[in-house]
Amino acid sequence: MAEKVKTVRGFRDLVGEEARKYRFVVDTARKVLERYNFEEVILPTVEYAKLFARSIGEATDVVEKEMFVFTDKGGREVALRPEGTAGAVRAFIENKLYADGTYKKLFYEGPMFRHERPQRGRYREFHQIGAEVFGTANPVADAELVGLADEILKTLGVEARLEINSLGCKKCRPRYREALLRYLREHEEELCEDCRRRLERNPLRVLDCKVEGCRRVAQEAPKITDYLCEECKTHHEKVKEYLSALGVEFTENPYLVRGLDYYTKTVFEFVSPELGKTVLAGGRYDYLVEELGGPPTPALGFAAGVERLMLLLKELPPRPPLVVVIPFGGEEVKREALKVARLLRKEGVRTELSYREGKIKKQFEFADKIGADFALVVGEDELKSGLYTLKDLRRREQERLPFEEVVRRLKEASS
Ligand SMILES: [Zn+2]
Ligand SMILES: [Zn+2]
Repeated sequence: MAEKVKTVRGFRDLVGEEARKYRFVVDTARKVLERYNFEEVILPTVEYAKLFARSIGEATDVVEKEMFVFTDKGGREVALRPEGTAGAVRAFIENKLYADGTYKKLFYEGPMFRHERPQRGRYREFHQIGAEVFGTANPVADAELVGLADEILKTLGVEARLEINSLGCKKCRPRYREALLRYLREHEEELCEDCRRRLERNPLRVLDCKVEGCRRVAQEAPKITDYLCEECKTHHEKVKEYLSALGVEFTENPYLVRGLDYYTKTVFEFVSPELGKTVLAGGRYDYLVEELGGPPTPALGFAAGVERLMLLLKELPPRPPLVVVIPFGGEEVKREALKVARLLRKEGVRTELSYREGKIKKQFEFADKIGADFALVVGEDELKSGLYTLKDLRRREQERLPFEEVVRRLKEASS
C-alpha cells in the first residue's frame, strides 16, 4: 500500500458524531442570533498580519507566539486569523457599514488558527461563533449582548458561570495602569519571565497570567473598579442593573482583563465549572474601529469556542427515522424504487435507496447495519398489487400497505 498522508500536527477531522455536534452548536447559536436580529458576515480566514498586531496588541501571547504568519508569493506578510473581531472590524470599515448612521449587529462563525501546544480539546485550528455590535455606547446593548450569550449557552444546555468587570476608558485606565505598575514593580522577582519582560508595555497581562507566582501576586493587586471615572462607573452600574432586570446571574471579578488589548469598559466571561475553562467571552472595544482607520464607533462583541461547547453537550437531538428502500427484482423495479425514494425525500422522510443487490435477507442485514428504522420493499409483487411491504425494523413487524398509507406513516414517524 502507498504511504498514508496524515493530518498536520494540531489539526483534525470532525467525523460522524463530532461533525453533528459541531453543526448542532453552530446552528443553535445561529438561530438565537437571528432571533436577536443579528446579520451574518462571512469573513476571509487570511488577513494582513498587521491587522492583528494593531488590534489584539503586539505584547500579547496571541500575536507574539501563536499566530500562523507567512509571506505569500506576492511578498505580503499575512496571517491565518487567530480570532474574529479584528476581521469583523476591518470589514465594518471597508464596507462602510457605518454609512447609514444606525448601529449594526453582525455575527460570524468559522475556523481560527493559533500555533499553540496541542492538548486534549485544544487544536491549532478551532472554531468560533462570534457576535459584534457596532455604533452604540448604550449600556443596554452590553446587557443585551451578555443576555444573548447566556441564552445561547442555556439553549445548548451548557452550564457556565458568568463573571464581569469593567476595564475603564482612556481617561481612567492610565491611572489604574500606573497604580498596577507601581505594585507589580515591587513584586517583580515573583513574576514569570514573560510577565517581567512585558511588564512596562502590558502590566494588565499579569492579571491574566496562569503561572502560579503571577497568580499569587495578582490576588493582592489594586482593583480597576476602584479607579474608574464617573462615566465608566455609571456605565458599569447600569450594565449590572440591566443584567439583573434580565434575570442573568453574574459575579464581579475585578481582576478579569481578557488577554487582548482592545477591550474597554465591560468585559465578561462564561466559565464552565465542568471544564474549568472559558467557553464564551467578550466585551466592549470602543476605540478599535477608530484605531483601525474607521470613524469613531463604540462597539462590543463576544466569541464562543465551538470545540469547548461540543465537549459540554449532554446529548444531540435524535436524527429523524431512516427508511431504506429495497429494490427486489429487475430493471422495472429499480426504476420504480428510484422514484419511490425521491418521492419520500420530497415528503421530508430521511431515505436511503439500497444499492446492494442479491438476496432479500442480505438487504435487511444492510438496513440493520446502517441503523435504519424502516425498510420498504419494492418488488415485482408490489408493482402488480400496488401494496408495499413496510417493515418496522425496531419492532420486527411488517405490513403490506398502499403507497399513500406508507407515505403517511413515514411522514408521521418523521415529524
Ligand atoms: Zn473611564
Ligand atoms: Zn506571568
